[in-house]
Amino acid sequence: MSSPKDIEKLIRPGIKAMPPYVPIEPTDVLSRRLGISDKDVIKLDGNENPYGCSPRVKRALAGYSSYHIYPDPEQRELRKELEKYVGVSAKNILAGAGSDELIDLILRLFLKPGDKVVNCPPTFGMYPFSTDVCGGKVISVPRQADFSLDMARTVKAINRGAKAIFIASPNNPSGNATPKYEIMELLKTGSIVVVDEAYYEFSGITMVTQVPKYANLIVLRTFSKWAGLAGLRVGYGIFPKKIVDYLMKIKQPYNVNAAAQVAAVESLSDLAYLQGTIKAIIKERERLWEKLAQFSWLKVYPSQSNFILCRVLRGNAAGIQKELRQQGIFIRYFNTSQLQDCLRISVGKPEHTDKLIAALKRKR
Ligand code: PMP
Repeated sequence: MSSPKDIEKLIRPGIKAMPPYVPIEPTDVLSRRLGISDKDVIKLDGNENPYGCSPRVKRALAGYSSYHIYPDPEQRELRKELEKYVGVSAKNILAGAGSDELIDLILRLFLKPGDKVVNCPPTFGMYPFSTDVCGGKVISVPRQADFSLDMARTVKAINRGAKAIFIASPNNPSGNATPKYEIMELLKTGSIVVVDEAYYEFSGITMVTQVPKYANLIVLRTFSKWAGLAGLRVGYGIFPKKIVDYLMKIKQPYNVNAAAQVAAVESLSDLAYLQGTIKAIIKERERLWEKLAQFSWLKVYPSQSNFILCRVLRGNAAGIQKELRQQGIFIRYFNTSQLQDCLRISVGKPEHTDKLIAALKRKR
């Protein structure tokens, strides 16, 4: 009889060596640990939408009567509605269980073991994570001090034989968008260029209209942020048509569940409401930015997203995060080499900003 130790030996060697992705913990777990009530939590650590989803989504989900039936594997209605929203044919569009799933699917489609993927940190952790899971090799080309791409080094790294590059624009956690002319330059390399526009609705900058013109451009989007559907897991990509066919072939047939498809379609039919909440978040981003910039001990980076990155110039960033947490205010703390003493604060409602700023003032 084999022991569990023998089973462990069968695991792919790369998996054992790879670092795990560290997700944020759910609010109820955190609040219970701190002994505070759920409703006293100010959650500014996940770049989620403080206004939640459209009220029409809640009604549509409550009224939906086919939860016992498998969802449409071809996501026909959702893709048709996305065609109108995005302005690109449904044939170029495919949805996933969050854009996270699409990152994984793209890499599974293109990578064979050892294939290289260029990553430009600091950025979203799923790119190196999924590359590792798929047996690829991550080539890191760090961003510059202002978090713009180091174009010369990035192009060089791609030209050394990378199959794909991922660019989050706006970037998480820095908040800056990559200019179109830089994406164009990356496209010229012929490598697969994945532009992750998870925060597009807060920046208004997009490469989507270019997808039908380039054989190597992919744009990813999500309903998690602007539409407030992070918990339902629904994202989509805009791909060259042929790539949609291949992804359709390799994806799990029912990857986007029925509730997620209903909620996404309903969100697209309630754009006026959601555009109102996007506007409120952008307005609040500017107010939060001004308030944070008043602290001389903080360097506040510009943001085209729904979060703001700050560097603690004098003081203890980890300590600040901890103290805020004791008061029920959750923000992200980073301490990698490029993000030494950095805090990332998601934009909440005006009252969240006020409480955060008051807590930071008390600190000093
Ligand atoms: N891309 C970026 C840049 C992100 O920051 C996030 C969310 N943290 C995602 C993708 C994942 O989005 P989804 O919820 O659609 O998986």
